[in-house]
Formats: sequence, structure tokens, C-alpha cells
Amino acid sequence: SKTAYVRTKPHLNIGTMGHVDHGKTTLTAAITKVLAERGTSTFVPFDRIDRAPEEAARGITINIAHVEYETDTRHYAHVDLPGHADFIKNMITGAAQLDGAILVVSALDGIMPQTAEHVVLARQVGVDHIVVALNKADAGDEELIDLVELEVRELLTAHGYGGDAVPVVRVSGLRALAGDPRWTASVEALLDAVDTYVPLPERYLDAPFLLPVENVLTITGRGTVVTGAVERGVVRVGDRVEVLGAGAETVVTGLETFGKPMSEAQAGDNVALLLRGVARDTVRRGHVVAAPGSVVPRRRFTARVYVLSTHEGGRSTPVSTGYRPQFHIRTADVVGDVDLGATAVARPGDTVTMAVELGRDVPLEPGLGFAVREGGRTVGAGTVTSVG
Ligand code: GDP
Ligand code: MG
Repeated sequence: SKTAYVRTKPHLNIGTMGHVDHGKTTLTAAITKVLAERGTSTFVPFDRIDRAPEEAARGITINIAHVEYETDTRHYAHVDLPGHADFIKNMITGAAQLDGAILVVSALDGIMPQTAEHVVLARQVGVDHIVVALNKADAGDEELIDLVELEVRELLTAHGYGGDAVPVVRVSGLRALAGDPRWTASVEALLDAVDTYVPLPERYLDAPFLLPVENVLTITGRGTVVTGAVERGVVRVGDRVEVLGAGAETVVTGLETFGKPMSEAQAGDNVALLLRGVARDTVRRGHVVAAPGSVVPRRRFTARVYVLSTHEGGRSTPVSTGYRPQFHIRTADVVGDVDLGATAVARPGDTVTMAVELGRDVPLEPGLGFAVREGGRTVGAGTVTSVG
């Protein structure tokens, strides 16, 4: 039988983001190695993180791209966000719940297009705290690294992160992974910076339960399991819940986090929910599990949207009324018609107000962040201002 999850420290969700090949996965592996030596993590090697197998190797497992570890003061779920084209899907599904992010910047290469794009998106989806890992510091020249640091601080300031106050830690994921004491110490310093700079998030425990579905699995002999991060509220084994999108009401018959059973999950937790009598093919990523009657899905809303500039990876031409991109809202991916009203056109780099009519109803509320995508590319990032 499995050991139950015991909540002894506050739980936070963080992730690594940044340009491809700057060392996110290596650093993630190095963090687990350094903490495994302290006895508060299990070492997760590079190829276990990068391969991200769908298979549930640890019972009812959650998205395996997450690793779990503890520092002296906190329990973390860490998602290694990929630095390529489908980053945004993960950003919205994962980072919408991120309490803080580690921006990985190669000290050898400096800011690259995805570095800037990820900072923009992090801001838009409400990641309020960033800590910078200036990685590959083992191979860089000091003066060059100083310049990269300045450049990163400027980028962060330009996007509202107060770059002068952001901790910037020079690390080497690769050398720390090799056990080099100078660089394992650098990873410890990075974790200390995360512990102290990323504040404990406010959890909406009193709000009605809501969980955006990230993945659906079948556990033979037990039924259908949905996984995701609890956005708000609390859920207990035995609770009735509604699956919006599937049009089903059911009962939660089991709860787990990182393979450990729990009797109660709360906002911020990464969990697997076993649902009674729900057919596997009726529930999909993008659906929402919520307290019955607590949310009404809608298709019309207005939003403030930042249209990414060309150098941030966005479009090279303006958009106008009649534009029909994909909207990534929580874990859902829905087509929508854009009406720019009197503004008429939105150029790359502009922030505009738009009315949107989605192709189907989804739970919406003011303040909700989303991404706008087209042809596999992120072209905008927005916030819902009103619904209906
Ligand atoms: P990701 O795409 O951001 O996840 O980057 P990876 O972790 O896959 O690393 C990309 C490449 O950079 C690999 O060849 C790593 O071995 C190398 N690398 C990662 N971290 C470091 C480091 O701290 N120092 C050096 N010199 N190379 C590194
Ligand atoms: Mg990687």
C-alpha cells in the first residue's frame, strides 16, 4: 500500500522557462540531484524529464513532466516547460497556476527570441515572480556574463518585473549534475533565492472547487482519472462534482498527488481525481471539473490583448475584425471570432480591446488569462475583462 501525502510545508508550483537549449532540463535534473543529497527529493535524471512519457509509472500519476521536491521550508511541484513551439500550451495549462518561474538564460548566448516571448507570456498569465538562472556560467567569460545579466534585468523591467530587484543567480546545471561542489552550491543559492523571493501565494480555499483537466487516463479496474492543478477551492473524496464540457455530474472516489493518496486536495495542488462512472471518452483536456452549479460556461467575452511583436515571435502583419485564431483558455483550445470594434486593426506590439465569440462555451471570468495562437504560433496574450 502507498504512503499517504502529508502536508507538512506549504506547497508551491514553479517551473523552468526560457529559450531552447539554454539548459532548463539539465537544471531541473540538477535541482533534484542537489536536493536528493539533502534527502528532500528523489533524483530525476535528464532523460526521465525530457522524455516525458505518458505512461503512469507511479500509480495514478500526474503529468510526468512535473518533478516534486522539498526545500527546508517548502514543497514544490516543478514543471520543466519546453522551450519550443508548443510552449504556450504548457504555459497556459501549467503556468496559469505557476506561483513563480525560474527563467533560464544561457550566459553564453544571452537573451534569445524565446527568452523574451516567455517573459511576455509569463506576465500575461499572471506569473508575478521570476528568479533568473544565468546558466552555463562554468563556460562563460565574467565580463560577458555581466553584460548578459544587465540585458536580462532590462528585459524584465521592460515587462513589469522590476528587473533590479529580481535575483539573478549564476549557475551551472551541467557541472552541478556532475557533482562539482562550486556548482552544486550555485544550485543551492538558486533554490534559496526561490524560497525567499517567491512569496507564499494566496490560495482561494473558500471558493467553490475548480480544476481544469490536463490529462485523462484509465486505471484498469478503477475507472477514469483526470489530472490537473486545483485552481481554487477544496475537494474531498466523496464530493459531488460536475464535469463541464462532458455534461456529467459524478462523485470523486479517489485523490492522489505524485502517486500518494490524499483525502483532501486544495487550491494549488497537482492532483489526480478518480471519477465514478464517467466514461473515458466523454472527458477531455480542456474540460473543467467544478463544484456543481458553481460555474456557467459562456462563449462571448471582451478582453485586453497584447499582440506579440515580430521579434517576440508574433505576427509580422496586423490583425483585423473577422480574424479567427485559436484561444488557449486554461487547458482548453477553442476557435474564436475577433471583433476589434472602432480600433479596427491591431498591429504587432499593440495592446487592444477585443470582443470574442468562441466556437463553444467554456467557463470564463474577468481576470482570466489566455493565449491567442495561429498556425502553431503564439500571436497574442490577453486577460478577460468582461463576460457575456
Ligand atoms: P533545454 O532545451 O533548455 O532544456 O536545455 P538542455 O537542458 O537540454 O541543455 C541543452 C544543452 O546545453 C545540452 O547539451 C547541455 O548539456 C548543455 N548545458 C546545459 N546546462 C549547461 C551548463 O550549465 N553548462 C554547460 N557548459 N552546458 C550546459
Ligand atoms: Mg528541455
